[in-house]
Amino acid sequence: MAGPTRTCVGCRKRAPAIELIRFVAAGTGEDLRLQPDPNRRLPGRGAHLHPDPACFALAERRRAFGRALRLTGVADTGLLAEHIRTALPCGTTDDTAAVAAS
Ligand SMILES: [Zn+2]
Repeated sequence: MAGPTRTCVGCRKRAPAIELIRFVAAGTGEDLRLQPDPNRRLPGRGAHLHPDPACFALAERRRAFGRALRLTGVADTGLLAEHIRTALPCGTTDDTAAVAAS
C-alpha cells in the first residue's frame, strides 16, 4: 500500500512519509529550535528528513532547514541532531534504537 510521500530536505529525494522524520520549528526569536515530531502531531509547518546523519549534514550545509520551515532566524538543530543520531530507519522506535546502541 502506497502512503503519502515527502521530500527529504537533505538529499532532496522523495520517500514514503513513514520513512522520514518530521520536524517543526518550535519557540521564537533567540529560542528557535528544530523539534523532532516522531508522532506527526505537532502543529505548524513541518519538514521531513531521512533518519540519516548524512542527510542531516547536507540539509545543514544547504541551510535547508530554514528554507523548508520559512524561518527568519537561525534555529538550534541540537534536538533534531540527537534524534537522528539515536533513530534507526525502518520504523524502529526510540526504545529499540537505544537498546541497539548500547
Ligand atoms: Zn535524505
